[in-house]
Order: sequence, then C-alpha cells, then structure tokens
Amino acid sequence: MARFGGKVALVTGGASGIGAAAVRLLHGEGASVVIADLDAAGGQALAGELGAGRAVFQPTDVSDFAQVRAAVDCAVERFGRLDVLFNNAGIGSVSAIADLPVEDWKRVLAINLDGVFFGCKAAIPVMQRQGGGAIVNTASASGLAGDYGFAAYNAAKAGVINFTRTAAIDHARDNIRVNAVCPGPVDTPILAGVQAVPGLRSQWEDCVPMGRFARPEEIAEVVAFLASPAASYVTGVSVAVDGGLTAHTGQPNLPRVMGGMA
Ligand code: NAD
Repeated sequence: MARFGGKVALVTGGASGIGAAAVRLLHGEGASVVIADLDAAGGQALAGELGAGRAVFQPTDVSDFAQVRAAVDCAVERFGRLDVLFNNAGIGSVSAIADLPVEDWKRVLAINLDGVFFGCKAAIPVMQRQGGGAIVNTASASGLAGDYGFAAYNAAKAGVINFTRTAAIDHARDNIRVNAVCPGPVDTPILAGVQAVPGLRSQWEDCVPMGRFARPEEIAEVVAFLASPAASYVTGVSVAVDGGLTAHTGQPNLPRVMGGMA
C-alpha cells in the first residue's frame, strides 16, 4: 500500500520549488493533490504533468482567506476529503529596517504568516469532521535566528514556528497533528537573486556545515514523513532541515583557519 494511498493533500505554493517537490512526492506515493498557487502557468503545467485523475490546480492567493477557503473546498468537492495540508507558499524580502517599505513588511507577513493561519483556519473544521489530519507548515532556519536584512522574513517565520505550537496543542485531541519544517538554503527560484550576485552562492554555501544548498526533494522528504502515519506521535515541532546551519553558533571555523582540519 502506498504511504498516501487514498489520502488527499493540499499544497500551497505547490507550483514551484519545495511545494512542487512535495506535490510530486505525495502524488507519487498515492495521494490526490490540490496544487494551490498564484502561478497559474506553473500550477497548471504540474497538474497536467501528473494527469487529471489525482491532481488539480486551484488558483490561490494565500494572503486572501476566501481564496484559501476555496482551495480547501476544492479538495473536498473534487476528492471528498482533506488529510494533509502543506502550508508552504512564501516570498522573500531583504532590506535594512529603516528602508523596508511598510507595504513590503505587510506583504511578507500576509503571505508567509497570515497564509499559514488561513490554511489552518479553513482546513481544521474539515479535519475535525473527518476525525483527524496532518498539517505541515514551512517555516525556515530564518525563523530560528536572525539574518542580516531579513526583518520581515525573520518575524514571519518565527511567527510560523510559534503558531505551529499553538495549533498543535489546540488540536491534539482532534487527532490533528501540526508540525513545521525549517529549511536552510534550498535550490529554488526564491533564491534566483542570489545566483545573480557574483560569489554570493559560494559564500552562503560556506556558512552551511554540509557545504551546500539543499535540493527541494530533501525538504519534501521530511514534509512527507511529518504528514505520514510514521510521525503519529509527533506534533508541535519545527524540524530543521538545514545541513547543520542552525547547529552552528556563527563563530569562525578555527581548525580550518588555523590549519588543523580540512
Ligand atoms: P519558490 O519561489 O520556488 O516557491 C514559492 C511558491 O509560492 C511559488 O510557486 C509562488 O508562486 C508561490 N506563492 C508566492 N506567493 C504566493 C501567494 N500569495 N499565494 C499563493 N502562492 C504564492 O520558493 P521555495 O523555496 O520553494 O519556497 C517555498 C517555501 O519555503 C517558502 O515559504 C519559503 O519562504 C520557504 N523557504 C525557502 C528556502 C529556500 O532557500 N528556498 C529556505 C527556507 C524556507
């Protein structure tokens, strides 16, 4: 029996990057999947690639509650239920605080944090009626500590981590598990700007003890575990999937600098 056979999943930000990798993995392991994204071309292409039977694209802006509720309704109307919600849509932002436009702050919070609340608010009543479900939220290593110039993003992702705890304890007795993943840098279009700055990628990779960015599939594997029955006693946690990034204090690699270690 496939791990997600007969299950229905909704993935926000499912048209690209980590979300698309999760869509492919969940679908490949038997789930019917609603791909909810702003990007109609990308979402339709992925749904088309997977075939109409168990994949559908639903145009969705996660910062608009009515659209998120429509995506949940789509899962129920099309596939009859909702077992797995992956609240993953997100955007980045880099700016000094004094220069950060108020509208940019609000947009990052609206997509990265409100969107997670909206997904849970819409899906939880469906999961309660069914007798349970699993929710996974995409936070970030940037929700566990601060990054230079990431004020809005850091605040939103830290909010996702603590919201995940509250959602988990509030709904533990509904048999709804709520967890988060905290990726480090992942090779997806969200980091396209990084690739354009000479030398930045290798400098960033050097901050990661494993010395490289993640592939989106490496994050999707942890999402699928958290969403699966194998994680049946796991709720309220935020799992770092970051190649050791947040295990590091940020101090220099003394043995390397001093010549004692590779
Ligand atoms: P991505 O840009 O490949 O994917 C993000 C997806 O979200 C896109 O398909 C985009 O169209 C969609 N999206 C953006 N705004 C939306 C909205 N308002 N409503 C619906 N969909 C919207 O980037 P990704 O790296 O796959 O990002 C996925 C999540 O992972 C984000 O929450 C991001 O913050 C988080 N994350 C990414 C990294 C990284 O290094 N790539 C690291 C940590 C956390």
